[in-house]
Amino acid sequence: MSSTQKIAFIGVGHMGGPMAINLVKAGYDVVAYDLSAELVAGIVAEGATAATSGVEAVADADVIITMLPGGKYVLDAYREQGLLDAAKPGALLIDSSTIDVFEAREFHELADGRGFAAVDAPVSGGVVGAEAGTLTFMVGGSAEDFARATPILEAMGKRLVHCGDAGSGQAAKLCNNMLLAISMVGTAEAFALAKQLGLSDQAFFDVASTSSGQCWSVSVNAPVPGVVATSAANNDYKPGFAVALMQKDLRLAQAAADATHTNNELGKHALEIYERFSDELARTKDFGAVYQMITDNLPTGATR
Ligand code: NAD
Repeated sequence: MSSTQKIAFIGVGHMGGPMAINLVKAGYDVVAYDLSAELVAGIVAEGATAATSGVEAVADADVIITMLPGGKYVLDAYREQGLLDAAKPGALLIDSSTIDVFEAREFHELADGRGFAAVDAPVSGGVVGAEAGTLTFMVGGSAEDFARATPILEAMGKRLVHCGDAGSGQAAKLCNNMLLAISMVGTAEAFALAKQLGLSDQAFFDVASTSSGQCWSVSVNAPVPGVVATSAANNDYKPGFAVALMQKDLRLAQAAADATHTNNELGKHALEIYERFSDELARTKDFGAVYQMITDNLPTGATR
């Protein structure tokens, strides 16, 4: 048991739910709140306490963790919904949602203004990593606040990277996911071209996964079925990491690139490609399904 610190967990959805359960398992006193009472009941069944509002959840908490759909939700929860006023003096605020870098800095400013410690700590590793407690946390904030957050984050993840000051965790997350999207589109195009040139998926995988084309999109989540056990392609592209989540991260990356006048032609193009998915497919397909989109446009066996 690590501690009897009280942790308010706000937002116990796909990611927050298993993360909160891992905190309970590590011995923390967890109070859960979500707009869905049903989701809260699921965490209570694992040993947490239910709160019927965010304000109630944070009232006596040493640490407040938010895992919400986006930046507006986080800022609204602290301002409009009153968490900032209700939080205990000296509390540590951890936001693990994926949000805009500038909203993350605003979150830090709100916390600083009231004397709270705060870190932005977005994650990578998906629902599988949240359940297994193997998430990577990319953390922004002072060294002191990072040190305070470390044991709590370690109960939910296996790797923590202190990326720098306020907002740096979100910056790292957006840049990483923009790179991931670009590498996945490139991987899908390479598999499609290899097939058109008569190579089997297995032959191309055996080369790309062991040579200079190697990347996560090849080795772990190859966008064709049957070559690597961990790939969502084996399961009809059931997520995994849904297209809608990749769209969200690419939009955040694009906003950051626009705001900082950064040339990101491929990031922008990856967003355009991922926006071609219908809303329904974006919700239900893994981002590796970009291979299906690319190959549906190819006349099979076409050669010059
Ligand atoms: P989710 O929609 O399953 O969970 C969000 C939860 O927040 C919902 O249960 C919702 O009811 C709740 N909520 C919304 N507003 C609230 C409020 N004011 N008070 C209390 N609860 C509120 O989403 P998720 O998949 O768990 O993702 C959460 C965050 O993690 C997002 O920012 C997402 O981008 C990020 N993320 C998700 C994944 C993934 O694979 N799902 C991976 C990495 C990062």
